[in-house]
Amino acid sequence: MCGVFGVFNHPEAANLTYLGLHALQHRGQESAGIVTSQGGTLHAVRKMGLVAEVFTSEVFAQLPGRVAIGHVRYTTAGGSLPKNIQPLTAEARHSSIAVAHNGNLINAEQLRDDLEEDGSIFSSQSDTEVILQLMARSRAGGFVERLIDALGRVRGAYSLVFTTDDRLIAARDPHGFRPLVLGRLRSHPDCYVVASETCAFDLIEAEKIRDIAPGEILIIDEAGLQSVQMRRETRRFCVFEHVYFARPDSVLDDLSVYDARIAMGEQLARETAVPADVVVPVPDSGVVAALGFAKASQIPFEMGLIRNHYVGRTFIEPKDSIRHFGVKLKLNPVPQVLKGRRVIVVDDSLVRGTTSRKIVKMIRAAGAAEVHLRISSPPVISPCYYGIDTPTRAELLASTHNPEEVARYVTADTVRYLSPEGLMQAVRGDSGVTYCTSCFTGEYPLRFTPPQGRRQLRLIEV
Ligand code: 5GP
Ligand code: MG
Repeated sequence: MCGVFGVFNHPEAANLTYLGLHALQHRGQESAGIVTSQGGTLHAVRKMGLVAEVFTSEVFAQLPGRVAIGHVRYTTAGGSLPKNIQPLTAEARHSSIAVAHNGNLINAEQLRDDLEEDGSIFSSQSDTEVILQLMARSRAGGFVERLIDALGRVRGAYSLVFTTDDRLIAARDPHGFRPLVLGRLRSHPDCYVVASETCAFDLIEAEKIRDIAPGEILIIDEAGLQSVQMRRETRRFCVFEHVYFARPDSVLDDLSVYDARIAMGEQLARETAVPADVVVPVPDSGVVAALGFAKASQIPFEMGLIRNHYVGRTFIEPKDSIRHFGVKLKLNPVPQVLKGRRVIVVDDSLVRGTTSRKIVKMIRAAGAAEVHLRISSPPVISPCYYGIDTPTRAELLASTHNPEEVARYVTADTVRYLSPEGLMQAVRGDSGVTYCTSCFTGEYPLRFTPPQGRRQLRLIEV
């Protein structure tokens, strides 16, 4: 999972990108990068770490130009290397190019093997580099033609922003798996911005114009906006964006994430009611669905778990002489809310079940009389190949355990999920968007052989 941002025609393009990436920080915390374009020359700052750690005030002096793109990255352990930090840059025959990618290409390994066979040398492990290599080898005329050529050969999920020759280019795959929106600054109407989520626009006081369409390439330059439509497929917007990944204050493909999560919680309450005294969310991801659950069930909503927001990835766990704190570093129960109560605890998803088990035990230890775990999405039974970092099928608890077995494992009195039909009802906006639900159904919109063998890890890397 990742977040991308781009800005065209602003004197403080790098600074706006910094703010945009800050708003998208939830989409990736491993590394952050900004590339600006000035007179066709690219300037890059890319480092491991959070946005606020990477971009200090001195850094902005190194990022001149009125066009900028940025990226925040989330990776599985193996590929978390400096050389993979985006935006990627390349010196092509015609111009310097920078690209930031959210999504995952499912035929990148195959294309890479072919390209390497043909003499290409790769400088990263990123699937995104395949796009740059294909563009470099294309015999088509201009940048856009070469991009169309390259994108015609890759399959999978991509929301991309490029800069080259002081232009900003955005592209979204024909299924529209991952989000990508176009906006403009209220104070500078000729300053365009592109972002993974609208919450990035709110911070910089930009207004949303529209979503980038599935299969669309949008070129923004001095001449204005030019849209090219590549092939179009059935829309397959990732439903997990609404379930978990996106920020609830974002509007994705014309549907408010907040509204969707409230509706998931309400529907969950209708489907899985149980007598109880209090509805408690697992913060932060379960909060909005729990509000919906409380509303529909008319059981009071209370914050029975408090989250510490300052647990960084670099937190040093105590050594053997002190006990390990695990989930307690992040969450602490409030006994005043839980003691002697029949508790419904609401979370957005159940993946491995390890966090849920610790949370249920914690609530019991705080004196709860009963603990009923309610999940505002269906069981996650299949890995994602389109950019969400889900584990292999064997690690997905629900792929091998029914709700009763899961309840036993997490030590809850009952465990129930939202039905797939209930989820679809909750995300049914007015725009008629159809979704990718492969993590819940195991049905993949693109036919392909799941990765195996030596490059398996690399393929599921984002
Ligand atoms: P589990 O109990 O299955 O170990 O963890 C469930 C929790 O993981 C939920 O609270 C959910 O918000 C969170 N979660 C779901 N998907 C992801 C993901 O892709 N990355 C991370 N870091 N957390 C996730
Ligand atoms: Mg969570």
